[in-house]
Amino acid sequence: MRSPIPDYLASALSSVEADHSGATADYIPELRDADPDRLAVAVCTEDGQMYSQGDCEVEFSIQSISKPLVYALALADRGFDEVLGKVGVEPSGDAFNEMSFDTEFGRPLNPMINAGAIATHSLVGRHDATAEQQVERIVDGLSAFAGRRLEVDESVFESEISTSFRNRALANMLRANGTIHDDPLIAVAGYTRQCSLLVTVEDLARMAATLSNRGVNPVTGAPVVPAAVVRQTLSVMATCGMYDGAGDWMTRVGVPAKSGVAGGMIGALPGQAGIATFSPRLDKHGNSVRGAELFQRFTSEMGMHLMDVAPPGLAAVRGRRIVGEGDEAITIVSLQGNLAFAGAERFLRNLVEEPLTTKRVGIGIVRVGSIADVGRRMILEAIRRLTLDGHDVYLIDADGLLPDPDPGHGGRVTIVNAPGDILRINGLDL
Ligand code: GLN
Repeated sequence: MRSPIPDYLASALSSVEADHSGATADYIPELRDADPDRLAVAVCTEDGQMYSQGDCEVEFSIQSISKPLVYALALADRGFDEVLGKVGVEPSGDAFNEMSFDTEFGRPLNPMINAGAIATHSLVGRHDATAEQQVERIVDGLSAFAGRRLEVDESVFESEISTSFRNRALANMLRANGTIHDDPLIAVAGYTRQCSLLVTVEDLARMAATLSNRGVNPVTGAPVVPAAVVRQTLSVMATCGMYDGAGDWMTRVGVPAKSGVAGGMIGALPGQAGIATFSPRLDKHGNSVRGAELFQRFTSEMGMHLMDVAPPGLAAVRGRRIVGEGDEAITIVSLQGNLAFAGAERFLRNLVEEPLTTKRVGIGIVRVGSIADVGRRMILEAIRRLTLDGHDVYLIDADGLLPDPDPGHGGRVTIVNAPGDILRINGLDL
């Protein structure tokens, strides 16, 4: 069989092809003169499968899509306290190059606007890193996100730096407020090099997929940033990634995303896939017009909106039965599906509402797909309370799905592979 996904992506591209509205970024000459008709899309799944269509081989500068990735590197290198002390996480509601600083500390409001991104650039690497070493760290880090060595486009860099009057003003404000300690011009040069890194739409999809995959590049298997850093980064992308269009984006598209003025755009669907588009004409917010249209299409057709939560397909408690009679009886409670808070709550409620009538109880998790940490803790607490109530508790877990099953403080549990083992352990034969 031929996969229908490339055909779907090709038809998505043709549905937006005729839209020539918007314009290339005019404040950077190299970008203004780029071919505006380029159009590409790529989807990389969280296990590394790539689907792409259109101008996939064309390289363009990453621009502001570097911002969330460099933010992730800064958080990984310097820790949350230092980074959050310098750059806030509030949407500015202003354009990307606006002078947005908080009134109390003079901190940039978030790392997605230029002021915050220039400050974030200077927070990457070790404290004693030179400006060159910081740029190197960023090239290495973004290359790890992409899964291949990235290079700076020197002509884009020269073109942008020669007209970067506004960014220089922002960097001077950062220096005056004490947010950065470096020479403001050197900070802008480093930030501009970061924005001038060349990528393809497939590179962007792999970068986004690394965010979707808790910070591990799904193609190379390399851990790039820790999962806690990814959560922070995706949250900031969701609230601030599309600048003054962020609220509109989150309600209509519902995926943490980031755009760049060269026409690239990424969206990260946690646990599923990274998506990237490329089309250079921009709307008034500086976001790619056809990229945004493609994302909107994907949301409605592929059910991507994060607030559109699928109904729980399976009841958490699959069944409850008693095997054997009298003193030999054992209650088996079988669970299924993915156990996070809501699923584990159903299990607890089942035990509360229908008190057990047998001393022995087996909890079957063979048909459970995954157990979130909260689900694990809730199940272990149930086991502890059942033990204290006088029950002998068995966990039927042939695959070791529930790691480190220690119920703690007076709880006791015996792990078995199958219900029959409970009988055997007790010398019963039914
Ligand atoms: N390098 C660009 C700038 O600083 C990035 C802006 C963007 O992509 N939105 O203006």
